[in-house]
Amino acid sequence: MATLPSGIKFLNCGNFIANEFTTSSSQMDVVSPWSGLAIGNVSMSGSNEIELAMNAAKKAFPLWRATPLKERCQKLFKFREIVLQRIDNIAAYASAESGKTHAEAKAGIMKGLEVTEFALSLQNMDSGGAMDVSRGVTCEYRREPLGVVLGIMPFNFPAMVPLWMYPIAITLGNCFIMKPSEKVPMTTQLMAECMRDAEFPAGVFQVIHGGADVVNKLVEHPDVKAVGFVGSTPVAKLLYSKATSFGKRALTLGGAKNHLMVVPDADEQITVRGVVDSFTGCAGQRCMAASLLIAVGKVDHVIDKIVAQAKAIKLGEQMGAIIDQAAMKRIRGAVDQAEQDGAKILLDGRLAKAPQGFENGNWFGPTIIDHAKPNWSCATTEIFGPVLTIVRVNNLSEALALEAKNPFGNATSIFTTSGAVAKMVADNATSGMIGVNIGVPVPREPFSFGGTKDSKFGACDITGESSLDFWSQLKKITMKWTHQSDANWMS
Ligand code: NAD
Repeated sequence: MATLPSGIKFLNCGNFIANEFTTSSSQMDVVSPWSGLAIGNVSMSGSNEIELAMNAAKKAFPLWRATPLKERCQKLFKFREIVLQRIDNIAAYASAESGKTHAEAKAGIMKGLEVTEFALSLQNMDSGGAMDVSRGVTCEYRREPLGVVLGIMPFNFPAMVPLWMYPIAITLGNCFIMKPSEKVPMTTQLMAECMRDAEFPAGVFQVIHGGADVVNKLVEHPDVKAVGFVGSTPVAKLLYSKATSFGKRALTLGGAKNHLMVVPDADEQITVRGVVDSFTGCAGQRCMAASLLIAVGKVDHVIDKIVAQAKAIKLGEQMGAIIDQAAMKRIRGAVDQAEQDGAKILLDGRLAKAPQGFENGNWFGPTIIDHAKPNWSCATTEIFGPVLTIVRVNNLSEALALEAKNPFGNATSIFTTSGAVAKMVADNATSGMIGVNIGVPVPREPFSFGGTKDSKFGACDITGESSLDFWSQLKKITMKWTHQSDANWMS
């Protein structure tokens, strides 16, 4: 019988409204993917709680927007310090509720803190601008907050994805309401405690838990000015059209089917490590995970080593668990379907054994499907598990043509030692994020994160400089202080 992971206590995750935690009358269990045990519960909010949060945010906004940027940053500096002090504990809960290994959970928090550091740099960078545009006439622009803004989160990065949004939105002077994934509310509970202890004014950062009904009420709410979303493509599409039809700005990031191309001159060591880490990291539950390997020409020597390295991965130590039973069924179904279609299963994660003590958890081993046809579902749909599908082509043009047909556009990588090949892929691939000899080409700050096609709906990226335009608006001020003797009606 599995027990709660060491250091983990049963956690009641309430809403965080006006700097107070409150519990809803309705709750749902939080089940650990490691053990299948309930390790906490989460409030399922009603309309009343949404109104309380909206009112607190509206009340906080005038004072927060009038707070100088440098003062806003002081709170965020404090938040960053507190998170760093508590990082091991937060990572333990993030791991327990999401299925990640402890190291992955901690790395996710650190990555999110890089965005926090970018937000902190705004105090020295985002000074606006002014210019004399005519004799005696000055034009100035300032970046101004929007008001109450919303962030809706997926399960797979319970700390990092929220940290893509709220440090930047809040530093710019907005009041942020977050709706975490109901599958992983515990990390948010601990991060909200960090925000409370950093002494942000009540209403600046708030958390409303719940499912799809709560998301819809929040998105439709007249006080919400902007909607940030990260999750699956069908929901991203739905919420983009809903939010924009209500006259709000929206940036909604969806799923992915990331293509990795391997050509015969690829460096074996870099390629094998890059591909295996990419499709098995976080048990493949990453929007930047390798999903389709395009084998260009004779690369069997690399594929053999990829299989050997993936086969050696120890579940529970080097690779974590799958979020829930529904995901297990989806992943198993995708591999079953590939087998029925005629693919060769080089490595079969369906046969994997659970780590000792975690027999009731959701375990699926690394899986490699070879000789798939480009139109089979294993080659086209997002499986979101530790499954790599291999499609074989004759040359780079065929590989690029296949990549162009991918309805998703998060990441595309090329493994090669040729600069010309790398440049050809960087120039012609259609994804928003391109990697050269990198399995997970996530841009680091200050470069921004964002895909194309069905991986992102809306303008701007979610991090980096591009995100500033999403979470703020520019005010333009034109001034004249001196009399102009030659002024005419146009002056
Ligand atoms: P999901 O779309 O099921 O859920 C995301 C959020 O939307 C949750 O908070 C959930 O409560 C809410 N939601 C779910 N169904 C809804 C509906 N019908 N109406 C309104 N709200 C709804 O996604 P998930 O399973 O939590 O996360 C995994 C997905 O997220 C994968 O597809 C993955 O590729 C994607 N993802 C994308 C990125 C990116 O940057 N593009 C990053 C992380 C995850």
